[in-house]
Amino acid sequence: MNKRANIDTVQTIPLWINGAEQAQTGARYGEVTNPATGAVVRKVPLCPASDIDRAVQAAKAAFPEWRATPPVRRARILMRYRELLEQHQAELAQLVNEEHGKTLPDATGSVQRGIEVVEFATGVPHLIKGEHSEDVGRGVDSHSLMQPLGVCAGITPFNFPAMVPLWMYPMAIACGNTFVLKPSEKVPSTSMLMARLFKEAGLPDGVLNLVHGDKEAVDALLTHPDIKAVSFVGSTPIAKYVYETAAKSGKRVQALGGAKNHAVVLPDADLEFTADALVGAAFGSAGERCMAISVVVAVGDAGDELIAKIKQKAAALPVGPGNRKGVEMGPLVSKVHRDRVASYVDAGVKEGATLVHDGRGLVVEGHASGFFLGPTIFDQVQTGMSIYRDEIFGPVLSVLRVATLDEAIDIVNRSPYGNGTAIFTRSGAAARRFENEIEVGMVGVNVPIPVPMAFFSFGGWKNSLFGDLHVYGRESVMFYTRTKVVTSRWLDKWAVSGSSMVMPTHG
Ligand code: NAD
Repeated sequence: MNKRANIDTVQTIPLWINGAEQAQTGARYGEVTNPATGAVVRKVPLCPASDIDRAVQAAKAAFPEWRATPPVRRARILMRYRELLEQHQAELAQLVNEEHGKTLPDATGSVQRGIEVVEFATGVPHLIKGEHSEDVGRGVDSHSLMQPLGVCAGITPFNFPAMVPLWMYPMAIACGNTFVLKPSEKVPSTSMLMARLFKEAGLPDGVLNLVHGDKEAVDALLTHPDIKAVSFVGSTPIAKYVYETAAKSGKRVQALGGAKNHAVVLPDADLEFTADALVGAAFGSAGERCMAISVVVAVGDAGDELIAKIKQKAAALPVGPGNRKGVEMGPLVSKVHRDRVASYVDAGVKEGATLVHDGRGLVVEGHASGFFLGPTIFDQVQTGMSIYRDEIFGPVLSVLRVATLDEAIDIVNRSPYGNGTAIFTRSGAAARRFENEIEVGMVGVNVPIPVPMAFFSFGGWKNSLFGDLHVYGRESVMFYTRTKVVTSRWLDKWAVSGSSMVMPTHG
Protein backbone atom coordinates (compact mmCIF):
# COMPACT_ATOMS: atom_id res chain seq x y z
CA MET A 1 0.00 0.00 0.00
CA ASN A 2 1.49 3.38 -0.89
CA LYS A 3 1.75 6.03 1.81
CA ARG A 4 -1.14 8.18 0.50
CA ALA A 5 -3.59 5.26 0.44
CA ASN A 6 -2.41 4.27 3.91
CA ILE A 7 -3.18 7.75 5.32
CA ASP A 8 -6.68 7.65 3.87
CA THR A 9 -7.51 4.38 5.57
CA VAL A 10 -6.08 4.87 9.07
CA GLN A 11 -8.20 5.88 12.04
CA THR A 12 -8.55 9.58 12.87
CA ILE A 13 -8.05 10.40 16.55
CA PRO A 14 -11.01 12.36 17.92
CA LEU A 15 -10.98 15.31 20.27
CA TRP A 16 -12.46 14.77 23.74
CA ILE A 17 -14.74 17.61 24.73
CA ASN A 18 -17.36 17.58 27.46
CA GLY A 19 -16.91 13.87 28.07
CA ALA A 20 -17.46 12.80 24.47
CA GLU A 21 -15.52 12.20 21.27
CA GLN A 22 -15.81 15.05 18.83
CA ALA A 23 -14.46 15.77 15.36
CA GLN A 24 -12.47 18.87 14.57
CA THR A 25 -14.04 21.59 12.44
CA GLY A 26 -10.74 22.33 10.67
CA ALA A 27 -9.26 20.49 7.72
CA ARG A 28 -5.60 20.03 8.67
CA TYR A 29 -4.26 16.66 9.83
CA GLY A 30 -0.93 15.25 10.94
CA GLU A 31 0.43 11.73 10.59
CA VAL A 32 1.16 9.50 13.55
CA THR A 33 3.81 6.93 12.70
CA ASN A 34 5.07 3.74 14.26
CA PRO A 35 8.79 4.53 14.53
CA ALA A 36 9.82 0.88 14.43
CA THR A 37 8.22 0.29 11.03
CA GLY A 38 7.88 3.78 9.59
CA ALA A 39 4.19 3.10 8.84
CA VAL A 40 1.52 5.74 9.35
CA VAL A 41 -0.80 4.28 11.99
CA ARG A 42 -3.25 7.12 12.69
CA LYS A 43 -4.26 10.61 11.63
CA VAL A 44 -4.34 13.41 14.16
CA PRO A 45 -6.42 16.58 13.77
CA LEU A 46 -4.46 19.84 13.82
CA CYS A 47 -7.14 21.96 15.42
CA PRO A 48 -7.92 25.58 14.61
CA ALA A 49 -8.61 28.14 17.37
CA SER A 50 -12.37 27.57 17.13
CA ASP A 51 -11.97 23.96 18.34
CA ILE A 52 -9.70 25.07 21.15
CA ASP A 53 -12.40 27.52 22.18
CA ARG A 54 -15.03 24.74 22.26
CA ALA A 55 -12.85 22.77 24.68
CA VAL A 56 -12.16 25.83 26.84
CA GLN A 57 -15.88 26.68 27.00
CA ALA A 58 -16.66 23.11 28.13
CA ALA A 59 -13.99 23.39 30.84
CA LYS A 60 -15.27 26.80 31.88
CA ALA A 61 -18.86 25.56 32.17
CA ALA A 62 -17.75 22.57 34.28
CA PHE A 63 -15.67 24.67 36.68
CA PRO A 64 -18.28 26.03 39.15
CA GLU A 65 -19.67 22.58 40.00
CA TRP A 66 -16.23 20.92 40.12
CA ARG A 67 -14.83 23.70 42.30
CA ALA A 68 -17.73 23.16 44.71
CA THR A 69 -17.21 19.38 44.83
CA PRO A 70 -15.66 18.57 48.23
CA PRO A 71 -11.97 17.66 47.87
CA VAL A 72 -12.61 14.33 49.53
CA ARG A 73 -15.07 13.42 46.75
CA ARG A 74 -12.60 14.57 44.10
CA ALA A 75 -10.01 12.35 45.79
CA ARG A 76 -12.31 9.31 45.60
CA ILE A 77 -12.67 9.75 41.84
CA LEU A 78 -8.87 9.93 41.62
CA MET A 79 -8.62 6.71 43.63
CA ARG A 80 -10.87 4.93 41.12
CA TYR A 81 -8.86 6.52 38.29
CA ARG A 82 -5.65 5.18 39.78
CA GLU A 83 -7.13 1.66 39.83
CA LEU A 84 -8.27 1.94 36.20
CA LEU A 85 -4.90 3.24 35.02
CA GLU A 86 -3.25 0.30 36.72
CA GLN A 87 -5.70 -2.16 35.13
CA HIS A 88 -4.99 -0.63 31.70
CA GLN A 89 -1.26 -0.17 32.23
CA ALA A 90 -0.30 -2.78 29.61
CA GLU A 91 -2.61 -1.22 27.01
CA LEU A 92 -1.24 2.25 27.76
CA ALA A 93 2.33 0.97 27.49
CA GLN A 94 1.51 -0.63 24.14
CA LEU A 95 0.25 2.70 22.80
CA VAL A 96 3.38 4.44 24.10
CA ASN A 97 5.50 1.81 22.39
CA GLU A 98 3.56 1.97 19.14
CA GLU A 99 3.66 5.75 18.72
CA HIS A 100 6.91 6.66 20.52
CA GLY A 101 9.00 3.54 19.97
CA LYS A 102 10.43 2.96 23.46
CA THR A 103 10.56 -0.64 24.69
CA LEU A 104 7.55 -2.14 26.43
CA PRO A 105 9.26 -2.52 29.83
CA ASP A 106 10.46 1.11 29.62
CA ALA A 107 7.00 2.28 28.53
CA THR A 108 5.43 0.35 31.42
CA GLY A 109 7.81 2.03 33.87
CA SER A 110 6.96 5.47 32.51
CA VAL A 111 3.21 4.80 32.89
CA GLN A 112 3.93 3.70 36.47
CA ARG A 113 5.68 6.99 37.24
CA GLY A 114 2.57 8.79 35.96
CA ILE A 115 0.23 6.64 38.06
CA GLU A 116 2.26 7.62 41.11
CA VAL A 117 1.29 11.26 40.55
CA VAL A 118 -2.39 10.24 40.59
CA GLU A 119 -1.63 8.39 43.82
CA PHE A 120 -0.15 11.56 45.30
CA ALA A 121 -3.11 13.62 44.04
CA THR A 122 -5.52 11.43 46.05
CA GLY A 123 -4.11 13.18 49.13
CA VAL A 124 -5.58 16.48 47.99
CA PRO A 125 -7.87 17.08 51.01
CA HIS A 126 -4.72 17.21 53.11
CA LEU A 127 -2.60 19.03 50.52
CA ILE A 128 -4.91 22.04 50.19
CA LYS A 129 -5.47 22.55 53.90
CA GLY A 130 -4.91 26.16 54.81
CA GLU A 131 -3.39 27.66 57.95
CA HIS A 132 -5.17 29.22 60.90
CA SER A 133 -3.96 31.64 63.57
CA GLU A 134 -6.07 32.57 66.53
CA ASP A 135 -5.76 36.06 68.02
CA VAL A 136 -3.65 37.81 65.42
CA GLY A 137 -5.19 40.86 67.14
CA ARG A 138 -7.64 41.21 70.02
CA GLY A 139 -10.69 39.21 68.91
CA VAL A 140 -9.19 38.85 65.45
CA ASP A 141 -8.29 35.54 63.77
CA SER A 142 -6.72 34.78 60.38
CA HIS A 143 -6.94 31.75 58.13
CA SER A 144 -5.79 31.00 54.62
CA LEU A 145 -7.63 29.23 51.80
CA MET A 146 -6.07 27.56 48.76
CA GLN A 147 -8.58 27.96 45.98
CA PRO A 148 -8.52 26.66 42.40
CA LEU A 149 -7.71 28.99 39.51
CA GLY A 150 -10.31 27.98 36.90
CA VAL A 151 -9.47 26.51 33.49
CA CYS A 152 -5.86 25.33 33.22
CA ALA A 153 -4.09 24.08 30.09
CA GLY A 154 -1.33 21.52 29.55
CA ILE A 155 0.92 21.19 26.49
CA THR A 156 3.15 18.13 26.43
CA PRO A 157 6.10 16.67 24.45
CA PHE A 158 6.40 13.45 22.45
CA ASN A 159 8.84 11.60 24.66
CA PHE A 160 6.56 10.64 27.56
CA PRO A 161 3.07 10.22 26.08
CA ALA A 162 1.52 9.05 29.39
CA MET A 163 3.81 10.27 32.16
CA VAL A 164 4.13 13.97 31.36
CA PRO A 165 0.36 14.58 30.89
CA LEU A 166 -0.10 12.72 34.20
CA TRP A 167 2.34 15.16 35.85
CA MET A 168 -0.19 17.90 35.14
CA TYR A 169 -3.92 17.29 34.91
CA PRO A 170 -4.45 14.96 37.92
CA MET A 171 -2.90 17.59 40.19
CA ALA A 172 -4.79 20.49 38.58
CA ILE A 173 -8.09 18.62 38.71
CA ALA A 174 -7.53 17.40 42.27
CA CYS A 175 -7.10 21.04 43.28
CA GLY A 176 -10.53 21.87 41.82
CA ASN A 177 -9.56 23.22 38.40
CA THR A 178 -10.82 22.06 35.04
CA PHE A 179 -8.37 21.26 32.27
CA VAL A 180 -7.63 21.33 28.55
CA LEU A 181 -4.77 19.06 27.49
CA LYS A 182 -2.95 19.28 24.17
CA PRO A 183 -0.62 16.29 23.93
CA SER A 184 2.15 16.05 21.36
CA GLU A 185 0.68 15.53 17.90
CA LYS A 186 3.27 12.77 17.40
CA VAL A 187 1.84 10.57 20.21
CA PRO A 188 -1.82 11.47 20.76
CA SER A 189 -3.49 8.10 21.45
CA THR A 190 -2.34 7.47 25.02
CA SER A 191 -3.96 10.69 26.26
CA MET A 192 -7.19 9.73 24.54
CA LEU A 193 -7.37 6.44 26.44
CA MET A 194 -6.44 8.17 29.71
CA ALA A 195 -9.24 10.73 29.22
CA ARG A 196 -11.81 7.97 28.62
CA LEU A 197 -10.67 6.12 31.75
CA PHE A 198 -11.07 9.27 33.86
CA LYS A 199 -14.72 9.50 32.76
CA GLU A 200 -15.16 5.83 33.63
CA ALA A 201 -13.75 6.62 37.08
CA GLY A 202 -16.57 9.14 37.58
CA LEU A 203 -15.04 12.43 36.45
CA PRO A 204 -17.86 14.80 35.44
CA ASP A 205 -18.01 15.82 31.78
CA GLY A 206 -16.04 18.92 30.85
CA VAL A 207 -13.54 18.66 33.72
CA LEU A 208 -10.87 17.16 31.43
CA ASN A 209 -10.85 17.98 27.72
CA LEU A 210 -8.44 16.94 25.03
CA VAL A 211 -7.48 18.85 21.89
CA HIS A 212 -4.84 18.13 19.28
CA GLY A 213 -2.64 20.22 17.08
CA ASP A 214 0.50 22.18 16.45
CA LYS A 215 1.51 25.84 16.85
CA GLU A 216 -1.93 27.10 15.85
CA ALA A 217 -3.61 25.13 18.66
CA VAL A 218 -0.89 26.07 21.16
CA ASP A 219 -1.15 29.77 20.33
CA ALA A 220 -4.93 29.63 20.79
CA LEU A 221 -4.41 28.17 24.28
CA LEU A 222 -1.67 30.65 25.24
CA THR A 223 -3.80 33.67 24.40
CA HIS A 224 -7.28 32.42 25.34
CA PRO A 225 -8.82 34.88 27.82
CA ASP A 226 -10.57 32.11 29.82
CA ILE A 227 -7.41 30.09 30.55
CA LYS A 228 -5.82 31.00 33.87
CA ALA A 229 -2.67 28.87 33.90
CA VAL A 230 -0.47 26.98 31.43
CA SER A 231 1.80 24.03 32.17
CA PHE A 232 4.24 23.22 29.38
CA VAL A 233 6.93 20.59 28.90
CA GLY A 234 9.04 20.52 25.73
CA SER A 235 12.14 21.97 24.13
CA THR A 236 13.83 25.12 25.43
CA PRO A 237 13.03 27.51 22.56
CA ILE A 238 9.32 26.60 22.68
CA ALA A 239 9.28 26.66 26.50
CA LYS A 240 10.64 30.20 26.44
CA TYR A 241 8.10 31.22 23.80
CA VAL A 242 5.26 29.64 25.79
CA TYR A 243 6.39 31.33 29.00
CA GLU A 244 6.63 34.77 27.41
CA THR A 245 3.43 34.53 25.35
CA ALA A 246 1.20 33.14 28.09
CA ALA A 247 2.62 35.49 30.74
CA LYS A 248 1.98 38.43 28.42
CA SER A 249 -1.68 37.46 28.29
CA GLY A 250 -1.83 37.40 32.08
CA LYS A 251 -1.51 33.70 32.81
CA ARG A 252 0.41 31.81 35.44
CA VAL A 253 3.00 29.68 33.59
CA GLN A 254 5.39 26.83 34.28
CA ALA A 255 7.36 25.93 31.16
CA LEU A 256 9.87 23.09 31.41
CA GLY A 257 12.48 23.02 28.68
CA GLY A 258 15.26 20.91 27.29
CA ALA A 259 18.42 19.60 28.89
CA LYS A 260 22.03 18.58 28.56
CA ASN A 261 22.64 16.44 31.63
CA HIS A 262 26.18 15.79 32.85
CA ALA A 263 27.41 12.84 34.89
CA VAL A 264 30.63 13.56 36.77
CA VAL A 265 32.69 10.44 37.40
CA LEU A 266 35.47 10.56 39.98
CA PRO A 267 38.36 8.09 39.83
CA ASP A 268 37.28 6.46 43.09
CA ALA A 269 33.87 5.42 41.67
CA ASP A 270 33.05 1.76 41.07
CA LEU A 271 33.55 1.90 37.32
CA GLU A 272 31.66 -1.31 36.50
CA PHE A 273 28.58 -0.04 38.36
CA THR A 274 29.02 3.43 36.87
CA ALA A 275 29.35 2.16 33.30
CA ASP A 276 26.15 0.10 33.67
CA ALA A 277 24.34 3.13 35.09
CA LEU A 278 25.57 5.42 32.31
CA VAL A 279 24.69 3.07 29.46
CA GLY A 280 21.12 2.89 30.78
CA ALA A 281 20.95 6.67 31.31
CA ALA A 282 22.47 7.59 27.94
CA PHE A 283 20.82 5.03 25.65
CA GLY A 284 17.59 4.09 27.48
CA SER A 285 14.59 5.31 25.49
CA ALA A 286 17.13 5.96 22.68
CA GLY A 287 18.36 9.01 24.61
CA GLU A 288 14.96 10.68 24.23
CA ARG A 289 14.54 11.52 27.91
CA CYS A 290 14.90 15.00 29.32
CA MET A 291 16.82 13.36 32.18
CA ALA A 292 19.06 11.28 29.89
CA ILE A 293 22.77 11.61 30.54
CA SER A 294 24.30 13.04 27.36
CA VAL A 295 27.65 14.19 28.77
CA VAL A 296 30.13 12.34 30.96
CA VAL A 297 32.78 14.43 32.69
CA ALA A 298 35.55 11.97 33.52
CA VAL A 299 37.79 13.27 36.30
CA GLY A 300 41.48 12.37 36.62
CA ASP A 301 42.30 8.92 35.31
CA ALA A 302 38.69 7.63 35.39
CA GLY A 303 38.28 8.12 31.62
CA ASP A 304 40.12 5.29 29.85
CA GLU A 305 38.72 2.37 31.81
CA LEU A 306 35.24 3.93 31.98
CA ILE A 307 35.03 4.50 28.23
CA ALA A 308 36.24 0.98 27.47
CA LYS A 309 33.51 -0.44 29.70
CA ILE A 310 30.78 1.83 28.29
CA LYS A 311 31.81 0.96 24.75
CA GLN A 312 31.72 -2.76 25.43
CA LYS A 313 28.25 -2.55 27.04
CA ALA A 314 26.84 -0.21 24.38
CA ALA A 315 28.08 -2.46 21.56
CA ALA A 316 26.23 -5.38 23.15
CA LEU A 317 22.88 -3.54 23.48
CA PRO A 318 20.11 -5.26 21.53
CA VAL A 319 18.51 -2.54 19.36
CA GLY A 320 15.23 -3.23 17.58
CA PRO A 321 11.47 -2.78 17.74
CA GLY A 322 10.55 -2.03 21.33
CA ASN A 323 7.82 -4.66 21.45
CA ARG A 324 10.26 -7.49 20.72
CA LYS A 325 11.36 -9.46 23.77
CA GLY A 326 14.94 -8.81 24.80
CA VAL A 327 15.30 -5.51 22.92
CA GLU A 328 16.84 -2.82 25.16
CA MET A 329 16.76 0.17 22.83
CA GLY A 330 14.11 1.14 20.28
CA PRO A 331 14.04 3.59 17.38
CA LEU A 332 13.94 7.39 17.44
CA VAL A 333 10.55 9.02 17.13
CA SER A 334 10.66 10.11 13.47
CA LYS A 335 12.80 9.94 10.36
CA VAL A 336 13.43 13.69 10.54
CA HIS A 337 14.63 13.38 14.14
CA ARG A 338 16.78 10.31 13.41
CA ASP A 339 18.43 12.14 10.50
CA ARG A 340 19.00 15.22 12.66
CA VAL A 341 20.65 13.13 15.38
CA ALA A 342 22.82 11.37 12.76
CA SER A 343 23.87 14.76 11.39
CA TYR A 344 25.23 15.62 14.86
CA VAL A 345 27.38 12.49 14.70
CA ASP A 346 28.75 13.75 11.36
CA ALA A 347 29.37 17.17 12.95
CA GLY A 348 31.17 15.66 15.95
CA VAL A 349 33.59 13.83 13.63
CA LYS A 350 34.17 17.03 11.61
CA GLU A 351 34.75 19.06 14.77
CA GLY A 352 37.51 16.69 15.85
CA ALA A 353 35.98 14.59 18.64
CA THR A 354 37.09 10.95 18.79
CA LEU A 355 34.31 8.64 17.62
CA VAL A 356 34.64 5.64 19.94
CA HIS A 357 31.48 3.85 18.85
CA ASP A 358 29.43 4.70 15.75
CA GLY A 359 25.68 4.01 15.68
CA ARG A 360 25.19 5.20 12.11
CA GLY A 361 24.51 2.53 9.58
CA LEU A 362 22.85 0.21 12.06
CA VAL A 363 20.52 -2.18 10.24
CA VAL A 364 17.67 -3.80 12.13
CA GLU A 365 16.63 -6.85 10.17
CA GLY A 366 13.07 -6.71 8.89
CA HIS A 367 12.79 -3.05 9.89
CA ALA A 368 14.58 -1.24 7.10
CA SER A 369 12.02 1.61 7.22
CA GLY A 370 12.25 2.06 11.01
CA PHE A 371 13.94 5.16 12.44
CA PHE A 372 16.89 3.42 14.09
CA LEU A 373 20.28 4.73 15.11
CA GLY A 374 22.66 2.73 17.28
CA PRO A 375 24.36 3.91 20.48
CA THR A 376 27.13 6.39 19.69
CA ILE A 377 30.03 7.48 21.92
CA PHE A 378 32.45 10.39 21.48
CA ASP A 379 35.60 10.92 23.55
CA GLN A 380 37.80 14.05 23.83
CA VAL A 381 34.78 16.32 23.35
CA GLN A 382 35.39 20.05 23.88
CA THR A 383 32.83 22.52 25.21
CA GLY A 384 32.90 24.54 21.97
CA MET A 385 31.69 21.62 19.83
CA SER A 386 28.05 21.47 18.68
CA ILE A 387 27.71 17.90 20.04
CA TYR A 388 28.45 19.36 23.48
CA ARG A 389 26.50 22.62 23.21
CA ASP A 390 23.23 21.44 21.67
CA GLU A 391 20.58 19.15 23.04
CA ILE A 392 20.75 16.26 20.55
CA PHE A 393 18.00 14.16 22.17
CA GLY A 394 19.24 10.85 20.83
CA PRO A 395 21.61 8.00 21.72
CA VAL A 396 24.80 10.07 21.52
CA LEU A 397 27.08 10.26 24.54
CA SER A 398 29.91 12.81 24.76
CA VAL A 399 32.83 12.33 27.12
CA LEU A 400 34.92 15.27 28.36
CA ARG A 401 38.15 14.80 30.32
CA VAL A 402 39.10 17.09 33.22
CA ALA A 403 41.74 16.93 35.93
CA THR A 404 39.78 17.90 39.06
CA LEU A 405 36.34 17.99 40.66
CA ASP A 406 36.61 21.82 40.64
CA GLU A 407 36.85 21.80 36.85
CA ALA A 408 33.97 19.34 36.57
CA ILE A 409 31.69 21.49 38.74
CA ASP A 410 32.67 24.55 36.74
CA ILE A 411 31.76 22.87 33.44
CA VAL A 412 28.35 21.75 34.73
CA ASN A 413 27.61 25.18 36.18
CA ARG A 414 28.54 26.96 32.93
CA SER A 415 25.98 24.94 30.96
CA PRO A 416 22.92 27.01 30.08
CA TYR A 417 20.77 24.00 31.01
CA GLY A 418 20.17 22.79 34.56
CA ASN A 419 17.72 19.90 34.48
CA GLY A 420 19.51 16.87 35.95
CA THR A 421 23.04 15.82 36.88
CA ALA A 422 24.75 13.00 38.72
CA ILE A 423 28.02 12.29 40.47
CA PHE A 424 29.60 8.87 40.78
CA THR A 425 32.04 8.50 43.66
CA ARG A 426 32.80 6.67 46.90
CA SER A 427 33.61 9.95 48.63
CA GLY A 428 30.85 11.37 50.81
CA ALA A 429 32.72 14.67 51.04
CA ALA A 430 32.94 15.04 47.26
CA ALA A 431 29.26 14.13 46.84
CA ARG A 432 28.23 16.57 49.55
CA ARG A 433 30.18 19.38 47.97
CA PHE A 434 28.74 18.57 44.53
CA GLU A 435 25.21 18.55 45.90
CA ASN A 436 25.78 21.92 47.54
CA GLU A 437 27.49 23.78 44.69
CA ILE A 438 25.90 22.41 41.55
CA GLU A 439 23.43 24.70 39.77
CA VAL A 440 20.99 22.06 38.62
CA GLY A 441 17.45 21.27 39.78
CA MET A 442 17.70 17.48 40.20
CA VAL A 443 20.86 15.81 41.44
CA GLY A 444 21.81 12.14 41.67
CA VAL A 445 24.52 10.70 43.88
CA ASN A 446 25.42 7.34 42.35
CA VAL A 447 21.92 7.57 40.79
CA PRO A 448 22.07 8.33 37.07
CA ILE A 449 18.49 9.50 36.43
CA PRO A 450 17.34 11.25 39.61
CA VAL A 451 13.67 11.77 38.66
CA PRO A 452 12.03 12.72 41.96
CA MET A 453 9.14 10.64 43.29
CA ALA A 454 5.63 12.10 43.08
CA PHE A 455 5.77 13.41 46.66
CA PHE A 456 8.75 15.62 45.76
CA SER A 457 8.63 17.94 42.73
CA PHE A 458 10.17 17.79 39.25
CA GLY A 459 11.90 20.74 37.65
CA GLY A 460 15.19 22.09 36.42
CA TRP A 461 17.03 25.38 36.71
CA LYS A 462 18.22 27.92 34.14
CA ASN A 463 17.03 27.20 30.55
CA SER A 464 15.41 23.96 31.67
CA LEU A 465 12.54 25.75 33.41
CA PHE A 466 10.88 29.09 32.79
CA GLY A 467 8.69 29.98 35.74
CA ASP A 468 8.94 29.52 39.47
CA LEU A 469 7.24 26.31 40.43
CA HIS A 470 8.06 22.73 39.53
CA VAL A 471 5.55 20.13 38.36
CA TYR A 472 3.80 17.61 40.65
CA GLY A 473 4.38 17.35 44.40
CA ARG A 474 3.70 20.25 46.73
CA GLU A 475 4.95 22.84 44.27
CA SER A 476 2.21 21.91 41.80
CA VAL A 477 -0.41 22.37 44.53
CA MET A 478 0.93 25.91 44.86
CA PHE A 479 0.88 26.32 41.08
CA TYR A 480 -2.71 25.14 40.66
CA THR A 481 -4.17 27.10 43.59
CA ARG A 482 -4.14 30.68 44.72
CA THR A 483 -4.03 31.72 48.30
CA LYS A 484 -6.62 33.86 50.00
CA VAL A 485 -6.12 35.05 53.57
CA VAL A 486 -9.20 35.89 55.63
CA THR A 487 -8.94 38.10 58.70
CA SER A 488 -12.07 38.05 60.84
CA ARG A 489 -13.23 39.72 64.01
CA TRP A 490 -15.94 38.32 66.28
CA LEU A 491 -16.79 40.12 69.48
CA ASP A 492 -19.25 39.50 72.30
CA LYS A 493 -19.72 43.20 72.67
CA TRP A 494 -19.50 45.54 69.68
CA ALA A 495 -17.80 48.53 71.31
CA VAL A 496 -18.10 51.77 69.35
CA SER A 497 -14.66 53.35 69.17
CA GLY A 498 -14.93 55.57 66.09
CA SER A 499 -13.02 55.37 62.81
CA SER A 500 -9.33 54.57 62.90
CA MET A 501 -7.28 56.44 60.36
CA VAL A 502 -4.01 54.66 61.06
CA MET A 503 -2.67 51.44 59.55
CA PRO A 504 -4.18 48.59 61.64
CA THR A 505 -1.55 46.86 63.78
CA HIS A 506 -3.86 44.53 65.74
CA GLY A 507 -1.33 43.68 68.48
P1 NAD B 1 8.67 20.45 21.37
O1 NAD B 1 9.08 21.67 22.09
O2 NAD B 1 8.94 20.36 19.91
O3 NAD B 1 7.08 20.23 21.50
C1 NAD B 1 6.44 20.27 22.76
C2 NAD B 1 5.00 20.74 22.56
O4 NAD B 1 5.01 22.04 21.98
C3 NAD B 1 4.20 19.85 21.62
O5 NAD B 1 2.91 19.68 22.15
C4 NAD B 1 4.18 20.63 20.31
O6 NAD B 1 2.98 20.44 19.58
C5 NAD B 1 4.28 22.07 20.77
N1 NAD B 1 5.01 22.91 19.80
C6 NAD B 1 6.01 22.52 18.97
N2 NAD B 1 6.44 23.56 18.24
C7 NAD B 1 5.71 24.64 18.61
C8 NAD B 1 5.70 26.02 18.23
N3 NAD B 1 6.54 26.49 17.29
N4 NAD B 1 4.82 26.84 18.84
C9 NAD B 1 3.99 26.38 19.78
N5 NAD B 1 3.95 25.08 20.18
C10 NAD B 1 4.80 24.22 19.62
O7 NAD B 1 9.29 19.21 22.14
P2 NAD B 1 9.27 17.69 21.73
O8 NAD B 1 10.18 17.50 20.56
O9 NAD B 1 7.87 17.18 21.64
O10 NAD B 1 9.88 17.01 23.04
C11 NAD B 1 11.26 16.90 23.28
C12 NAD B 1 11.77 18.05 24.10
O11 NAD B 1 11.08 18.12 25.34
C13 NAD B 1 13.24 17.92 24.47
O12 NAD B 1 13.84 19.17 24.35
C14 NAD B 1 13.20 17.47 25.92
O13 NAD B 1 14.34 17.79 26.68
C15 NAD B 1 12.01 18.21 26.41
N6 NAD B 1 11.47 17.61 27.61
C16 NAD B 1 11.67 18.27 28.78
C17 NAD B 1 11.19 17.72 29.96
C18 NAD B 1 11.41 18.41 31.26
O14 NAD B 1 10.82 17.99 32.22
N7 NAD B 1 12.21 19.46 31.36
C19 NAD B 1 10.50 16.50 29.93
C20 NAD B 1 10.30 15.88 28.72
C21 NAD B 1 10.79 16.45 27.55
